[in-house]
Amino acid sequence: MTLFTKKRKAAIVKTVINTFMHFYPKCKIQLLLSQDTNIDIDFPVESIAYNDNQSMNSSTKAFISGEVQIEKQSDVIANLFVPLTGNQGVYGVVQLLGDKDCTLTEREIPFVTNVAQTAGKAIENASLMEHSKHHISELKLINDVTHHLNSNLDLKEITEYIRDKIKELCQAQEIGFIFKNGGEDVTVLQASTDYFHQPDSLQFATFLLEQEKHATFHGNYHAYTGLPYRSLLVIPMEQGLDVYGVVVIMHPSTYFFSFEMFKFMQSLIQHCSLAFFNAILKEELQKAVITDDLTRLYSRKYLEEKIIQQREITAEGSLILFDIDDFKKVNDTYGHHVGDDVLKQVAEVIHQFSDHSAIPARWGGEELAIYTPNKQIAEAVALAGEVCNNVEKMTNPTVTLSCGVSTWQNDLNDSVSELFIRADRALYKAKQMGKNSVVQG
Ligand code: GH3
Ligand code: MG
Ligand code: MG
Repeated sequence: MTLFTKKRKAAIVKTVINTFMHFYPKCKIQLLLSQDTNIDIDFPVESIAYNDNQSMNSSTKAFISGEVQIEKQSDVIANLFVPLTGNQGVYGVVQLLGDKDCTLTEREIPFVTNVAQTAGKAIENASLMEHSKHHISELKLINDVTHHLNSNLDLKEITEYIRDKIKELCQAQEIGFIFKNGGEDVTVLQASTDYFHQPDSLQFATFLLEQEKHATFHGNYHAYTGLPYRSLLVIPMEQGLDVYGVVVIMHPSTYFFSFEMFKFMQSLIQHCSLAFFNAILKEELQKAVITDDLTRLYSRKYLEEKIIQQREITAEGSLILFDIDDFKKVNDTYGHHVGDDVLKQVAEVIHQFSDHSAIPARWGGEELAIYTPNKQIAEAVALAGEVCNNVEKMTNPTVTLSCGVSTWQNDLNDSVSELFIRADRALYKAKQMGKNSVVQG
């Protein structure tokens, strides 16, 4: 509650007390407030006692029933208990305690009721106004976020933007974006915070995707052994009836996030869901365009484009071309189907030996390639040798590779096609020399 609303409520209650003091100067006046009314007032306040029904005193009865309660002593009204009622609830009770100098009659009831009801409604309005202001600012924020997301961002930009917004709004320590990737594969998006990039966090991500089908608020989470976070907000990402991922927001302290924050995050993420989904689809489509269907390596076109781009950044870099030896024989002996499978096995080895910066590709037919932007020729030759050794060991039926390696020549006119030609010539030499070998071009 803002200070402004607190002060406003206190002023309302104070006016009620002053009014009663003015009209009943001889009566003792007491104020009882419910704990959640939350008013800061310089007047003694007692809390409402929530007793069981039998021993319920008049103030509690007034609070629960919302009706004025009367205590009589030998037919004279001694005490009045007047609830501060609004349309949606009762916020407290004012007690007027009579004595011999101050007798209260039934005639007072309509008046005191009226005053108390006016005050109750005013307290309620102050709360409602605060709530609606709060809602307006939340809606405005959601509107700003969705507006921003509609401006054609890619998946990385979208997730980074939402991650930063969530961090700012709820002071989360860790935020994870976990997605189902086609079948059973689970992907943790790059924009997720540090915890989600540790080696064993994929297991936690998989666990969450399996366990948490609905938005859930955890204040003291212990369901996953070893997790150092107690407060978790888990919010599924939905498209139609399908859950395609979850966003998880975490903090080490127990009950760190409020329930209101949870509802707000739920609403925010629901609004972002479509933008997320579209960005994922777009990314998958882009990947499909640049990926060879059979080997899952990059296409030749993509390889060529990337080499041109990389060449602009650095003059280092080497190209390795591989060709499967006597592949025709594999097809002839075992059939085309087995040939395809061997091609996949070779591609898998090439993939394993390609580091983060390398671009493994299918050059065409049974010819494959790796471009390594950071490697000098000697390192590239060593890498090619390792790939060849492993292909011989890992393939079944066993095949070997011949390989040509080239690098940029120092003269500035060197072109991408020259780089390819030199690698291809070296490869041809390797074949001539009896295959299963690496030649530097
Ligand atoms: P070399 O050692 O001289 O390279 O002999 P090779 O038999 O590997 O070379 P050649 O160029 O004579 O034959 C290549 C074979 O690779 C012929 C072609 O059918 C086969 N091939 C090309 N692409 C594919 C493919 O996608 N799947 C299968 N199964 N075979 C393929
Ligand atoms: Mg060939
Ligand atoms: Mg061949």
